[in-house]
Amino acid sequence: MGKNDKIDTKSKLDLENTKIAFSYKSNSELIKTAYLFKLMNNPTLVKATTGLAMLGLKLKIPFTNFGIKNTIFPQFVGGETLLDCQKTIDLLNNYDTLTILDYGAEGKTKESDFDAVMLENFKAIEMAASNNSVPVISIKVTGLASNEILEKINAGQKLTSAEEKAFEKSKERVDNICSKAEELGVGVFIDAEESWIQKPIDDIAIEMMKLYNKKKVIVYNTYQMYLQNKLDQLKSEHQIALENNFFLGAKMVRGAYMDKERSRAEDKGYPSPVQPDKAATDNQFDEGVVYCVDNYETIGFCSATHNIKSNLLQAQLVDERALDKTHSHINFCQLYGMSDYITFNLADAGYNVAKYVPYGPVKEVIPYLIRRAEENSSVTGEMSRELNFIDQEIKRRKI
Ligand SMILES: Cc1cc2nc3c(=O)[nH]c(=O)nc-3n(C[C@H](O)[C@H](O)[C@H](O)COP(=O)(O)OP(=O)(O)OC[C@H]3O[C@@H](n4cnc5c(N)ncnc54)[C@H](O)[C@@H]3O)c2cc1C
Repeated sequence: MGKNDKIDTKSKLDLENTKIAFSYKSNSELIKTAYLFKLMNNPTLVKATTGLAMLGLKLKIPFTNFGIKNTIFPQFVGGETLLDCQKTIDLLNNYDTLTILDYGAEGKTKESDFDAVMLENFKAIEMAASNNSVPVISIKVTGLASNEILEKINAGQKLTSAEEKAFEKSKERVDNICSKAEELGVGVFIDAEESWIQKPIDDIAIEMMKLYNKKKVIVYNTYQMYLQNKLDQLKSEHQIALENNFFLGAKMVRGAYMDKERSRAEDKGYPSPVQPDKAATDNQFDEGVVYCVDNYETIGFCSATHNIKSNLLQAQLVDERALDKTHSHINFCQLYGMSDYITFNLADAGYNVAKYVPYGPVKEVIPYLIRRAEENSSVTGEMSRELNFIDQEIKRRKI
């Protein structure tokens, strides 16, 4: 990642500066955002509206699309098409923030759909190559391969010859994407998904790194630190990279499927692979940050998190060791529409920071939007972290 022509500004880092965080929003935009986050803060409302939205889309009830497109969609999504995203890319670039294009397709089932997703990813790579501030695109293997086959491989079950063929085709799609990305000098983040399909995704990611990360980091795998032993996996894959002379590309996240992971483990009667508590996840994530900073010369990494402490930790390590903040191996990333206080304050202080900008038709990005709405609702009735900062800025502006 990184941006070669970035000027290293020297502002002191304060991730709670709401003036910098929201300077791109007018008063009316800020009020609108506050209203949306207030609605999302209510878990009962979130549950009811996400259920209704799913039903409305399924039954093609008029205005469902319109309703979503005029509320939650513009907050978290760059647009329905790549072209729609240009405005967002330019806006972010004005605030020294990079864009990672993320086509919202996941959980596809038909071969023709997998091919269509690959073609869409090609277009995203071309768009990235023509934009100075879009260093990376992200892909989901479940948009390119059958979930069922991934699950069988993960469980060590034998594939039929048709399944084997289909899986080879899926690997070819990922390879085509990475090869095109290398050709055009664009990076590829391979997102992490559920643990019961993750092993083949990890294997494909390492295979791609062996092919394309010889000279620089093109391919990044994602490490979900809420899973036990992920730090060990990161370290052992770093060793593989060193032994085979390629750069490790690592995107670190905590993990988005905790409830699903736990309830499946309970249903099927195996121990949950998720860490016992939040503190254990946080520790493993932060140890991962330290490990990556320690080894930044051979690991190109991105801390993809909205956690203030983890972001501060990485920034502090970079400062204490007097590393180059703009080194292309040291990166931060947040999701579009969230944690502006982290993104824009990091950007203002001169670090490499990007927003994940998802795009796609409403029906494709619905699972993503539901995850965002759930993440921002509060079971305890407390104000969400996002709403708290927005509220502070409203008070600061006296509006
Ligand atoms: C740019 C970007 C890309 C992402 N890509 C992916 C991806 O490819 N795959 C993916 O799975 N997720 C992805 N995520 C989502 C991510 O995994 C988290 O769900 C989300 O960012 C919230 O975690 P956090 O670090 O931001 O913040 P925090 O609010 O500090 O952490 C919340 C997270 O902590 C963990 N947690 C919470 N409670 C517990 C508990 N009791 N026990 C154990 N762990 C707990 C969960 O993972 C939860 O999501 C991405 C996030 C970002 C910002």
